[in-house]
Amino acid sequence: MSKLVPPHGGKGLVCCLLEGAERDAELKKAEGLKTIEISNRAKGDLIMMGIGGFSPLDGFMTKADWKGVCDKFLMADGTFWPVPVTLDTDDDAVKEGEEIALKGKDGVVYATMKVTEKYEMTEADKKWECEKVYMGHGEDSVDGKFWEVAMEDHPGVQMVMAQGKYNIAGTVKVLSEGDYAERFPGVYLTPKQIRAEMEKRGWANVAALQLRNPMHRSHEFLAKIAIEVCDGCVIHSLIGNLKPGDIPGDVRIKCIQTLIDNYFVADNVINAGYPLDMRYAGPREGLLHATFRQNYGINNMLIGRDHAGVGDFYGLFEAQDIFDRIPYVKEACPEPGKALLCKPMKIDWTFYCYRCDGMASMRTCPHTKEDRVILSGTKLRKALSDGAEVPDHFGRDEVLVILRDYYENLTEKVEVKMQKAASGQDMK
Ligand SMILES: [Zn+2]
Repeated sequence: MSKLVPPHGGKGLVCCLLEGAERDAELKKAEGLKTIEISNRAKGDLIMMGIGGFSPLDGFMTKADWKGVCDKFLMADGTFWPVPVTLDTDDDAVKEGEEIALKGKDGVVYATMKVTEKYEMTEADKKWECEKVYMGHGEDSVDGKFWEVAMEDHPGVQMVMAQGKYNIAGTVKVLSEGDYAERFPGVYLTPKQIRAEMEKRGWANVAALQLRNPMHRSHEFLAKIAIEVCDGCVIHSLIGNLKPGDIPGDVRIKCIQTLIDNYFVADNVINAGYPLDMRYAGPREGLLHATFRQNYGINNMLIGRDHAGVGDFYGLFEAQDIFDRIPYVKEACPEPGKALLCKPMKIDWTFYCYRCDGMASMRTCPHTKEDRVILSGTKLRKALSDGAEVPDHFGRDEVLVILRDYYENLTEKVEVKMQKAASGQDMK
């Protein structure tokens, strides 16, 4: 009997990936089906459904699911879920009841799907989804400012507003995991694989550190706080697509491994990646991070300052507060067993302090801004991209060597935009 937290939704790991002869037969069948091209986001969603990362989802959401998730964080059957997992199309010819093949932009057929519902998504529907899912309490979301800036500055909103006229729902048979296993050997691990590794190590109480930036000293500190109080920490990096200016997965994974080799006890940490794209959903994305981590057997989600932040749309600790603010996280769902079991591990703003002579947080350090090195991934990328000096104590030398090398070999320079959250100007 596993001591790890059970998968979300009470149905065990729901894996839609076909294998062997079954997969070959379905691929053959797909050749004769109507094909629609899917976004990179949908490709990531499908792979997660394939490997059980999105349990209990076994397909794209119906209108009732979509509406319930946006409005109440609940799918139609009463299961907690924080962000819509929908499939859009502009194809007028797709019919309800029809089987279709879903092909990625890379030409790979990722799945077949039985279309059980096709529903229209008007501009008003999309705007409603954006307001429900992406609007926060930060500077860019309040006082009617959201729509003034969101179309320009919010990649999540841009993504939803650019979607097709319809959403189509239905269960899927997943036919490919993409090239993640080849590109990230030993790091791209399925929920089953991570659970098996943690069971082998005897872990029961586990934390995950979400990463989309290279690890700086604050990330290292967060992971180490978790290791002190849990059996171990999974450093879990997004290896799907990011926005321009972000550092690619292979470079980030190399940085993490170097950091682990030099500064961690290897038995207490796992370096792993998951195949999703960023949704840029701020606090709701924090909840999604916890939801799919539960499927990986993880029962604590590290949530630090500005988790999954986007510009200045969210308050610095909004992704922590949302865990207290919404139902079905703390209390039971209307249906038993369908609430979120992975809990937030909330950590205050962390930094290096010269007077404390070490890493500290707002809860432990009594000094002022002037004594501290304010750490942020955006600030680190900006300094490296501009070829500027990286302040002492920002990152470990072994990691900075890898990052400098990456930036020096970039043929096209990308402007890194500084937002207020990353600048540290809010620190007292
Ligand atoms: Zn201090």
